Amino acid sequence: MKHRLVVAVDLDATIAYYTHWRGPKRIGRPLSPSVRHTLVYLRARDARIVLFTTRARHGKKPIRDWLRRHELLHLVDEITDRKVFWHVLFDDRARHVPANEPHGFRDAVLRWGNELP
Ligand SMILES: [Mg+2]
Repeated sequence: MKHRLVVAVDLDATIAYYTHWRGPKRIGRPLSPSVRHTLVYLRARDARIVLFTTRARHGKKPIRDWLRRHELLHLVDEITDRKVFWHVLFDDRARHVPANEPHGFRDAVLRWGNELP
């Protein structure tokens, strides 16, 4: 049996507009209609969507309410602040490190350093 693809998606500044923390109930608007389109695209490919956000520490209800308000709730399978299993993570603050690459971490840090102003 083929394993279902698990896709983790960050909330703040990845799919929701975010500048700074304003409390657990203040979540910015979805960044564009492409947020929903992309989640629909992933679900159509049978991906399991995990919304990975530290906001979940403050309770999941405001997040569920936000998802419902923007007609995204049915597209998300799980909300968590834990690093549960996933195949890939989409996050505005993450940098890619290739798996099991001896110098992957070092190279990623150096690439990041070169991009700093
Ligand atoms: Mg973020």
